[in-house]
Amino acid sequence: MSTRHEVQGIPVAELAETYGTPFYLYDGDALEGRMRALREAFDPRLEFFFSLKSNPNIAVCALLHAHGARAEVCSMTELLTARQAGVAPEDIIFLGPGKSRDEIAACLDEGISALVCESTQELALIDELARERGVRAPVALRVNPAFSVKGSGLTMGGKPRQFGIDEAQLLADPDLAARHPHVRLMGVQVYMGTRILSEQSVVENSTRIFDLAERLSAALGFPLELVDIGGGLGVAYFDGENDLDLSVLATDLNPVLAGFADRHPSTRLVMELGRYLTAEAGTYVLRVRYVKTSLGENFAVTDGGTHHHMAAVGIGSFVKRNFPMRLLSGAGEETGTETWNVTGPLCTPNDTLAKKIQLPPLAPGDLLGVDRSGAYGPTASPVNFLSHGYPAEVLVVDGRAHLVREPDRPADLLSKQRLPQAVLHARATAAN
Ligand SMILES: *Cc1c(COP(=O)(O)O)cnc(C)c1O
Repeated sequence: MSTRHEVQGIPVAELAETYGTPFYLYDGDALEGRMRALREAFDPRLEFFFSLKSNPNIAVCALLHAHGARAEVCSMTELLTARQAGVAPEDIIFLGPGKSRDEIAACLDEGISALVCESTQELALIDELARERGVRAPVALRVNPAFSVKGSGLTMGGKPRQFGIDEAQLLADPDLAARHPHVRLMGVQVYMGTRILSEQSVVENSTRIFDLAERLSAALGFPLELVDIGGGLGVAYFDGENDLDLSVLATDLNPVLAGFADRHPSTRLVMELGRYLTAEAGTYVLRVRYVKTSLGENFAVTDGGTHHHMAAVGIGSFVKRNFPMRLLSGAGEETGTETWNVTGPLCTPNDTLAKKIQLPPLAPGDLLGVDRSGAYGPTASPVNFLSHGYPAEVLVVDGRAHLVREPDRPADLLSKQRLPQAVLHARATAAN
């Protein structure tokens, strides 16, 4: 074996033997390192809230929490995940444009830090549910700001959106708090977009969000107990992209944070981070099943596919761009590279994890890894397409590997389905 890649001293090939392929492999040291880097770089008054959306595994959440992350959740299951991972209610915020009655009720019953409210009708429902419980609901307003800042993969501000309440609508409604006596307006949240790779955009977003928060708090007469500047910090996936330089970002952002914090010493300052915390720590590990050629091109058909890793098809792009991919363990000599298409088991040409990528010569049994895959992996993919189900997830902590999610087995997928007698009967009586 010519290639031997390891995570914390454990050969990936050994993990592949133990757990079977394909699976997601998370390096706990990388998760911890990310949190440490953020805490060291930024003003200590900034709190980091992990967006579970990017990777809802309970062990990942608990490990990030152990290193200081709080939680930003968007569904009942994410709320329960954060709680069971040990995150205290006062370190959880709940966000999302379509919260159910049950979700709002659970937030109030748990006593979380803030419900981030996204519409006036939602505010009325929060008010009603809080009145029923005899409590005042802590609510931060999610604002759709009038401004937008370039440099994000997905721009939020300055456009019609289902998220948040328009800045102009809020500024024109000074009685909003008075009309909702069981709501305690206490904060402002703005999320400007995802995959931001420009330090300057983050600084500019944050500056404008702080300004907006102060204007809203003055116009609507509520205190700023919490200001959430969103986040959306990106990681580089594709050729031509560069990672954010944390020290450059900190140099420019810290004065902005300090300026606001000095004016508002009791306000919690929140940054939400999903991808930035988890992407780099994760590798999607798959095994080559067959190699073949078609009309002069090389294909490696693997046991992994886009049902586990939809992002590999291309993020926000009509052109296929490849995630970074490596040969983790190969039978042959790793001499030179060839051009490969790496595909999966699904019966669609879209099931292409990498197109025309340079890799060493491949053979059946070789292990490949898609790097930077710890965010928006299986949960953001059609895992049940062709009834394959969710893959295993393995987390390495302190030099030891742990299975942190069982893969779905055929019986798991079948157990959710029902075969009514009437259908069986129809078969028995149908004319042949
Ligand atoms: C998706 C989302 C996040 C996380 O975004 P990343 O780009 O993964 O950091 C944070 N906040 C809100 C409101 C989101 O919708």
